Formats: sequence, C-alpha cells, structure tokens
Amino acid sequence: MSVKVMIPTALRSYADGHDTVELEGGNVREVLTKLTDQHPQLKAQLFSDTGDLRNFVNVFVNDENIRDRESSDTSLSDGDEVAIVPAVAGGLDVAVAGAELSKEELERYARHIILPEVGLEGQKKLKAASVLLIGAGGLGSPLGMYLSAAGIGRIGIVEFDVVDYSNLQRQIIHRTDDVGRPKHESAKRTIEAINPYCIVETYNTPLTSDNALDIVSKYDIVIDGTDNFPTRYLVNDACVLLGKPNVYGSIFRFDGQASVFNYQGGPCYRCLYPEPPEPGMVPSCAEGGVLGVLPGIIGVIQAIEGIKVILGNGDSLVGRLLLFDALGMKFREMKIRRDKNCPICGDNPTIKELIDYKEFCGMPSETSEAAKIEPQSPWDISAREVKDLLDSESEIFVLDVRQPNEYEICNLGGNLIPLAELPGRLEEIPRDADIIVHCKMGGRSAKAAHFLKDQGYDKVRNLHGGVGAWAEQVDPSMPKY
Ligand code: ZN
Repeated sequence: MSVKVMIPTALRSYADGHDTVELEGGNVREVLTKLTDQHPQLKAQLFSDTGDLRNFVNVFVNDENIRDRESSDTSLSDGDEVAIVPAVAGGLDVAVAGAELSKEELERYARHIILPEVGLEGQKKLKAASVLLIGAGGLGSPLGMYLSAAGIGRIGIVEFDVVDYSNLQRQIIHRTDDVGRPKHESAKRTIEAINPYCIVETYNTPLTSDNALDIVSKYDIVIDGTDNFPTRYLVNDACVLLGKPNVYGSIFRFDGQASVFNYQGGPCYRCLYPEPPEPGMVPSCAEGGVLGVLPGIIGVIQAIEGIKVILGNGDSLVGRLLLFDALGMKFREMKIRRDKNCPICGDNPTIKELIDYKEFCGMPSETSEAAKIEPQSPWDISAREVKDLLDSESEIFVLDVRQPNEYEICNLGGNLIPLAELPGRLEEIPRDADIIVHCKMGGRSAKAAHFLKDQGYDKVRNLHGGVGAWAEQVDPSMPKY
C-alpha cells in the first residue's frame, strides 16, 4: 500500500526539506510512524510524549479531516494522499468558515479588504484568529490597541500588575485615572472601546509553569511583551512544547529587538540566548529607563508580524533578529538559526516539560509577600529599621549607589556615589562608620555591600528593597519610579 504524505511548509525543515514523502502503510498511524522513523525531528512536532497526535495538528486523508474520528486507525488504500496540517499553517481555515463579517465590520475593515494581500478572506482569518498577549505594559499597549483595531477576533491578556504613575509615559492603553487599577481591567476597557467586535479574555495572574500550558494552548499565536527573563523563557518553552508561534519583542533605554520564534522551522528564544544573564547583570527598564515611544515602535512591529503569521503572507522575521536603535535611528538585522543542540527545540531536546524558571534564571524561586518585606541576607536591613536608626541620631553613613538622575527623583539625603564609581571613590567613605547602602530596589546596593565588605568595611548593611521599600514602608509621599 503506497501512499503520499504531504509535508506542510512549516514542517519541511524537519523532513530534510521534502514536500512529499512516499511511504508504505495500511493505516494513518503506521504511515506517520514510518514517517517519524525516517525523520525523527518530526516526532516531537507531531506526537506528544504519550504518543498521541498533538492537538494542534490535523491530518487529512484525501482532503478529509480525520482528526475527530478514530484518526490513527483510518485505513488507507493505494494512492491515498495524507496531508499534515498544523494549526497555524492553514488550520485556521476551519474556523474562518464561521467568521462572517457584518455590514458594520465590512465598513470598519474596508481599507484592509481592498488590499489584495488581505482581502475578505484575510479579514475573516483575522476574525477567526486568537492572540495571547503576555503583559499589558509598554509592548502590550500598542499590541492590544492595534491588533483589536485590525480585527483580531479574540485577544487574551495575561497581566496581574496595577497601573502606576511611572507607567503612563509609555503604556498608552492605560489612562491617568486608571492609576491604582488592575492593568488587565483598563486594557480590556480600552480595547473594547476601540473595537467591540474583539473578544477580550483576561488572566489576572502571573504566567507560571503551572498555568502556562493551559493558557497558551487556547490561542493561535503568542506575542511576548514581558519585561523579565524567567517569564521570557517560560513563554518560549510553552510555545515550543505546544507548537505555537512566539512573536518576540524587547525594549531597553533606546534599543529594541524583535523576531518570530518557533515558526516554520526557525529558531526559538533559547537558540538565540541559551542562558539568561546573571540576575542584576542586565538592568530592567525600571532601573535603566526606557524611551516612552520605543515600545510603540517595537510593539507595532510585533503586531505586524502577528498579523502576517495569521494571514500567511509576506516574509516574517523568522530566522532574523531585528535590532532598532532609536538614538541613531537605525534598523539592523542579524541572521539567526535553529540550534540543533537547543535543549528544547533541538534534535534531542532535554527539556520536555516546563521547569522552575526563577531558579533557571538564578533567582530565589519563592518570593512571597513576606520575603519581599523581610530582609534576606544577614546584612540586609529593612526600611523601617533604617528609619529607626536614623531617628535615633546614631552616626550613620547613608550611601546611595544610584545614578544622579535617580537621586533627583527621590533620595534619603545620603551620599551619592554611583555603583560604577565606587572603587575609585573609597576615600569618601569613612572606614569606621556604620554604613547603610541603598539603591532603587536593592540589587545594585547588594553588590556594593559585597564590594565594601571585600574592601574591609565591616559595618555595612544593605537597605532591603531600596528606596522603593522606603516609599512603601516609611514615606508614602516619596515618588516611586
Ligand atoms: Zn531552540
């Protein structure tokens, strides 16, 4: 019994580039097993660990979908054609049939519909599509607004943070009077005001190893707008395990990056960055700052890439890392490839389920509310204790290791020596003094405390949680940034 198996574009790189493979076999399971024996890389794409056909893969026999029947036992006859159709590479067609557009929607999307590259079919694909946004912050703002305006039918938002004044400079989905409200609420309200045809589903929780697969599996595409490494690796791994395209974007100061991961045989985030930087090595936007308009550029690039994936049109950023430098106003791109040795998307993956991402990124895995307030290391001191010490009029040398512009926003009246200048300015710090060192959140000051101990200062303590903790525990009138 000889049958032809058609390999979709998205999976060809796992099948040595073949578009069809001729195989012998009496039923679908036999044929697919032979196929994955010949091309072992396809196995992880098509079958779960328990040997079931992955739920984002459809199998058609002579153009008929056999997914919902006793699929694997469907018998085959000589000359039959078996087509493998993973969800995004055409699987949306099924849903498109139900995605009719009303008169008002036809008017709303008229400028799309007259584009040959979108057309009525494309607009229906957008309506049938679902996109998961990780975060409703800087990147999530333009993403949510433009994707809903463009007619994406269903948008999920994972966000548990609350709107802060320091967000408003770039997170344009939130308004001044949203300060203090949950971001998922204000994001949903803004999107629904832009396009009532868009269904918004919100998840008021951090994305975790426990909930990620469940949440991600409900969407066609994931767009990563996170601001921290544990979540970025978590999003990447969940997308690889579930076979979802992951539209990546990141921003810092004046620089942005974008790419499309885990799509059409291209690389994943781990292929590009196998290991996260050590905690504290790369400052966050909260520490390093970010130009308010920058997430607008990068988020909109992500939105365009997401729409292209849904439409199946254009050259996506798969295999390319786009770099944007706002100060120099330059775009550059780097070629990136799938790494055969990648621990999750490589030929012999070692990561087969979600792991502890905080631990992977070198952070304490449990950060309870208590742990945030209570000092962690023996020389840590809480903001309240510092306040008591300062009030007791004991001689304390308060050392602020932030940057001068941070000092201008708020300070404890201490001596300002930025961390990088510390080694050259030790003579300014009295040897016998009780020293309390602080920064914004406690990371830089912990390094400074270590350094001073190594230099022989033995009465050094680190203000746990930095000026942020001071603002929360001691002086609510102090601006937070
Ligand atoms: Zn990879």
